[in-house]
Amino acid sequence: MSEVYFAGLRADRQTENIPSKIHRLFEKARLGSTFTKGDLVAVKTHLGEPGNTTFLRPQFVSAVVDMIRKDGGKPFLTDSNTLYLGGRSNAVDHLNAAVRHGFTYPVVDAPVIIADGLLGKDEVEVEVGLKHCRTVKFGTAAYHASSIMVVSHFKGHLMTGFGGALKNLGMGFGSRAGKLEMHKLAHPAVDEEVCTGCGTCARSCPRSAIDVRGKASIDSVRCIGCGECWVACPSDAIGPEDPQSLIEIQEKIVEYCYGILKGKEGRVGYMTFVVDVTPHCDCPGWSDRPVVPDVGILASLDPVAIDQAAADLFNNSKGLEGTALGHNLAPGEDKIRALVDMDWTAQLRYAEELGLGSRTYKLIEI
Ligand code: SF4
Ligand code: SF4
Repeated sequence: MSEVYFAGLRADRQTENIPSKIHRLFEKARLGSTFTKGDLVAVKTHLGEPGNTTFLRPQFVSAVVDMIRKDGGKPFLTDSNTLYLGGRSNAVDHLNAAVRHGFTYPVVDAPVIIADGLLGKDEVEVEVGLKHCRTVKFGTAAYHASSIMVVSHFKGHLMTGFGGALKNLGMGFGSRAGKLEMHKLAHPAVDEEVCTGCGTCARSCPRSAIDVRGKASIDSVRCIGCGECWVACPSDAIGPEDPQSLIEIQEKIVEYCYGILKGKEGRVGYMTFVVDVTPHCDCPGWSDRPVVPDVGILASLDPVAIDQAAADLFNNSKGLEGTALGHNLAPGEDKIRALVDMDWTAQLRYAEELGLGSRTYKLIEI
């Protein structure tokens, strides 16, 4: 059974503030044991798509960076470029977005290094020989860093149900070719009954794969499965052609985690913030209302346990009215499934099967 440490978010002048809780979680979960003095520590986080306002606050990330520095590590913030067009598809745009979002020295005492370089082509290929992938391709910075601190924002995700530590690590570090590999199963289909012909999907498509003449139609040869149209459609008229593909995408992400973690046993720590839990990830250039009140912060050495614990805490929260949850508000209801009707547990089951961690955990409140 793995240990997952938890801190709630209540704070007043009598109690400790959030950065101090982050520091204490870091110590309790022994995240400092994942690196030694002088090590280059990759702090994997999401720097926020321009227009999105619910990515992790740089002040939270700063508190993690402070602890790495205190223990003698050399932290740097990192993420890989995106597959879709937008504000982070190359390192120049990505760094500009990071600066605008406050990931700068006055706020976070660490440089930002885009893991897969200028165009998402600086990658290493690691052999895994698993069910879906023979090799995985991810940003060189992840490979060369001595240790990784995976700092994740828990939220919903159209292709994986939720995004937590595994998604942040596996998909997040994938190079352009790696992301293509993970997404390529996700061919979207248009429900013509629902499509209004508004054209939003076509404008969001990085491959000009959508033609709208009254109704949208997708050229499956040009489509790379990035899912942008899916997120962009205001009428929910786009979804996966084959629902089974959502299981396979989760499993591919886990195989990427397996490859990234290979050779880094004991050198990766995880902190997950279950705050501002929006229905979608931080990749769209907008943020919907959070669907539950802020829950808290988790820390662990086990990516599977921390994801399972975050999902359980989220599902056991009371849903907020007037959000994308609709009427699925009661504590204990599967709210991830209410947001995206899919089996989101596939990633956890497969990660456990591959020995990346345990779904059985002990939650220790600090
Ligand atoms: S965004 Fe949705 S509703 Fe608009 S054209 Fe595309 S599929 Fe149809
Ligand atoms: S059709 Fe949709 S999923 Fe395919 S490339 Fe275009 S935006 Fe991405």
